[in-house]
Amino acid sequence: MKYYILFGPPGAGKGTQASSMVEKFNLCHLSTGELLRSEIAAGSELGLKAKALIEAGALVPDEVVEGMIESKFKSVKGVDGFLLDGFPRTIAQAKALDEMLAKTGESVTSVVSIMIPDEMIMERIRHRASIEGRADDAKEEVVANRIKTYHDKTEPLIGFYTETGRYNEIDGVGTIEEVRERIFDLMSKY
Ligand code: ADP
Repeated sequence: MKYYILFGPPGAGKGTQASSMVEKFNLCHLSTGELLRSEIAAGSELGLKAKALIEAGALVPDEVVEGMIESKFKSVKGVDGFLLDGFPRTIAQAKALDEMLAKTGESVTSVVSIMIPDEMIMERIRHRASIEGRADDAKEEVVANRIKTYHDKTEPLIGFYTETGRYNEIDGVGTIEEVRERIFDLMSKY
């Protein structure tokens, strides 16, 4: 199985690119953000706990997302691999992922990182807010907190994956098609 990590700041276009990536490479798209939003919509206990954190622009506890991911690894069949979107988001989650995969002698195939400049993040999220109506996109201070959380907790993963030679960066500035081509070229090498 292939395990690709789709990495990048909020608004980099991960969700947009994910659909063509899963189709081309027969992967299962696992977005922790989407999984959490469906728990919230279903009104589950987990959803209730996650809601306040997400709407404050904070992260939900590592164990929660790790559990969701591991159960999908066990239950999803008929694919050539997984596209992890929004996970891992902390060094602890990255280490937990390595341990999960090591149980079956597997490892992360490659990190595909979509990078855009900071000033573009706000602009893209403002645009998405007007289309998708996500609660955590609506307030500027929540978006600012998500960007801060990204810099503090998630950006250190770049060093973590660079050290083990699994980190690959893509320029996220350009049309959807241009960025998609860059991603496909990269993924085809693994
Ligand atoms: P974004 O567009 O900001 O990348 P996502 O849809 O990936 O947003 O995630 C939305 C929110 O869900 C995050 O701000 C966070 O609160 C929560 N979340 C998603 N993935 C994780 C994770 N791996 N660890 C902790 N919290 C997460």
